[in-house]
Amino acid sequence: MTIPQLFKKIVPFAKPYRRLIIYTLLLTVVGSFAAQINAFILRYTVDQINVLMVAKEPLSKGMYLVGMISIVLLAKEIIYALVQFGQKFYGEKLRIYIARDFSQSIVDRILTYRLAFYTSADNESGKLATRIDAGISSLTRLVQNFFIDILPLFANAIIALICMFYANVYVGLVGVAVIPLYLYIGQAQASKLTGFRRQMRNYRESKNNRIISLIDSILVIKSFVREPEEAKRHEKIQYEMTENQMATRKTSFLYDSIKNFVEQIAVVIIIVLTAYLVLSGQITIGAIMFHIMLFNNVSAPIRQLHRIYDEVNDALIYSESFFEILESDEQIESKGNYKPVHIHGDLELRHVSFEYPNGTVALKDVSFAIKPNEITALVGLSGAGKSTIINLLDKFYEPSHGQIFLDGVDLASYDTAFLRQHIGMVLQRNHIFKGTIFENIEYGKMGSSREEIIEAAKKAYIHEQIMELPKGYDADAQSLSGGQQQRIAIARLFLKNPPIIFLDEPTANLDAIATEQIKNSLDAIKKDRTVIIVSHSISQIIDSNAIVVMEKGCVVEKGQHEDLYANKGTYYDIFSAMANSLNLNKISRTLQSDER
Ligand code: ADP
Repeated sequence: MTIPQLFKKIVPFAKPYRRLIIYTLLLTVVGSFAAQINAFILRYTVDQINVLMVAKEPLSKGMYLVGMISIVLLAKEIIYALVQFGQKFYGEKLRIYIARDFSQSIVDRILTYRLAFYTSADNESGKLATRIDAGISSLTRLVQNFFIDILPLFANAIIALICMFYANVYVGLVGVAVIPLYLYIGQAQASKLTGFRRQMRNYRESKNNRIISLIDSILVIKSFVREPEEAKRHEKIQYEMTENQMATRKTSFLYDSIKNFVEQIAVVIIIVLTAYLVLSGQITIGAIMFHIMLFNNVSAPIRQLHRIYDEVNDALIYSESFFEILESDEQIESKGNYKPVHIHGDLELRHVSFEYPNGTVALKDVSFAIKPNEITALVGLSGAGKSTIINLLDKFYEPSHGQIFLDGVDLASYDTAFLRQHIGMVLQRNHIFKGTIFENIEYGKMGSSREEIIEAAKKAYIHEQIMELPKGYDADAQSLSGGQQQRIAIARLFLKNPPIIFLDEPTANLDAIATEQIKNSLDAIKKDRTVIIVSHSISQIIDSNAIVVMEKGCVVEKGQHEDLYANKGTYYDIFSAMANSLNLNKISRTLQSDER
């Protein structure tokens, strides 16, 4: 991205604050004029003192002059302080407001993105958060720098240059001559540093990512006693980062010294030139100080040029990925606008193939129908593509080829939000948010009354257990057991009351007792709805009305339990393996001996 491009992207964010910007700019202009006053006063003072001394005037006259000048200087400083305060305050206000808007707009935006955006390796949560954070902070720093540092300094410099030219063209030319040289050095410094900065951003992202994954997998790390290895890995990034930082500093300091040297040379040239002009009677003695002070105003922003370059470059690098995130239109979920009055639940996949963004082909020419108000089980070994089908049915992803129909209409034409309002999901692990049980159930239908929540909890067979907790519905939901959390998720669905329900291995993470306990709630939620269940539980599979058997992304069999079993195909193999894993012989012997 180039600087003009970056500014073009920032403009829409700055537009609502036009007034604030105008105030800041006005104050900047006033401030820049005020900044030159000292040079003029000093010239006047030196020249006047010179006149007094040559004329051998009494001390009192000199003191009167100094008194008057002090008053003028004091008045100027008061005005200058007020202007600076206003300028900084408005600049800061602008920065804070724009930062808020940046941050809100990116959250608003990514919420509209399809699931593929979140599951892509580039957007792992740590990386995404760092990128957004770094983008916002560097962009807002840019806004702040522009209005608080860059603009006043450059306005000062330009006015100072004009004053120098006005007083003496030759001295003015020396002042101007230094600028391209500075710009050249600043640019060279900036381009040298860009590579380091990009590298630094990568280090920062992967460091944050590592720390997050470290916290996530702390149990595994500890159980395998891998702390030393993990620490070593972290140390490696840290060391590389330090080296990179040192290299950055070295380059910075080297260029700073060169710039300083050039500046001092310019000062010397100005002294020599003005001294010559004074001696040759072309200007007064006060002009020496006058020009040196003005040149100080010219070189002040240039001295900061590397920092400005640094920050603009930072903003360019970090904002690149910020705007990439903000502007990835292809990530927006396709909308559709079909909203039927009633959803029946008649689903059909026709020649559906699907490939994940990373290239994994998960489904190959899959066709089958799901009858409304029936329970359809998807059976297959892990990786067969069962969850992928659920992802497609919920429009989290769209088929690469083929179509999916709901009640005879292509899923793509449905309004996505409307569709999801009519679909409920129970997953292996349902996300229980930080908050109370009440809030977690209420997520199913915001604004539900306490009675409705209790009703839903009763239907999910969890009400009694909630009542046993000291805080009842106000207890922390995350402290519930896995089975209880699943039932909270089911209660949430009772509130939502969708006609279609997907159950993706809802009992996979539960022990036998918890599975038994949630059976009632699952049976209750399945009633009178179109249900698709992915499960490794024999009882849930047998309970279904239809079974679709999948293998390596293809549908290999479909039908009912008895027929499929009799077929002695894939279903027979999977079913037998499940039954054998239960050690049914021993179980039945145990149960029989118990009966005797
Ligand atoms: P199942 O539910 O039958 O266990 P999945 O539908 O989860 O199978 O997976 C089917 C295939 O797609 C597998 O090869 C899996 O690795 C791959 N897969 C699943 N989710 C993703 C994803 N988000 N990105 C890339 N590949 C995926």
